[in-house]
Amino acid sequence: MTFRTSNEIHPYHIGHPLTVKESSDEQIEAVCSKILQETETEKKKESIICKNCRNEITTVEYSIAANGQHAHIFKNPLGITFHIGCFSRAWGCFIYGIPTYEATWFTGFTWCIAVCANCFTHLGWHYQSGRESFYGLIMANLVKHVKIH
Ligand SMILES: [Zn+2]
Repeated sequence: MTFRTSNEIHPYHIGHPLTVKESSDEQIEAVCSKILQETETEKKKESIICKNCRNEITTVEYSIAANGQHAHIFKNPLGITFHIGCFSRAWGCFIYGIPTYEATWFTGFTWCIAVCANCFTHLGWHYQSGRESFYGLIMANLVKHVKIH
C-alpha cells in the first residue's frame, strides 16, 4: 500500500544550485506550493456520504492507494462491474459476514460485505490481511459532500 506525499511534487528542484534568477523562481514555487497545500486542506474537508440516506461514510482524507491506485474497476463472478475507491477508514460502514478469500480482488486479502450502518445499502467490501485492512467502496453508491464549519 502506498501513500503519496507532497514531497514528490517538485523533485526537479532538489539539489539545484541557486542563482539570482533561480531564487526568484524558488520564491514563486514556494507560493505555489503553499496554495497547493491549502487546496489539499480544502479537499480534506470533503465528506463521502451514502447516496441513499446521506449518512457520512468517510472523508477524502482517508483515500488510499491499494495495489498502486485509489480507483479500481472489477467484475464480480456474476459479471457485474464495480467502480471502487479505496479508503483506510469508513466509520459509516457496518461490516458483516465471514471473511473469505473466494474470488478476492486483492491478492492475500480476505473480504466481507460493507453496508451503510444507517440504511444497509451495500456500499462495498472490507479487505483484511493480518493487521492491514481497508475498504473498497462502490463509488456509484456514494456522493461527495463539502462540510460547512
Ligand atoms: Zn445509507
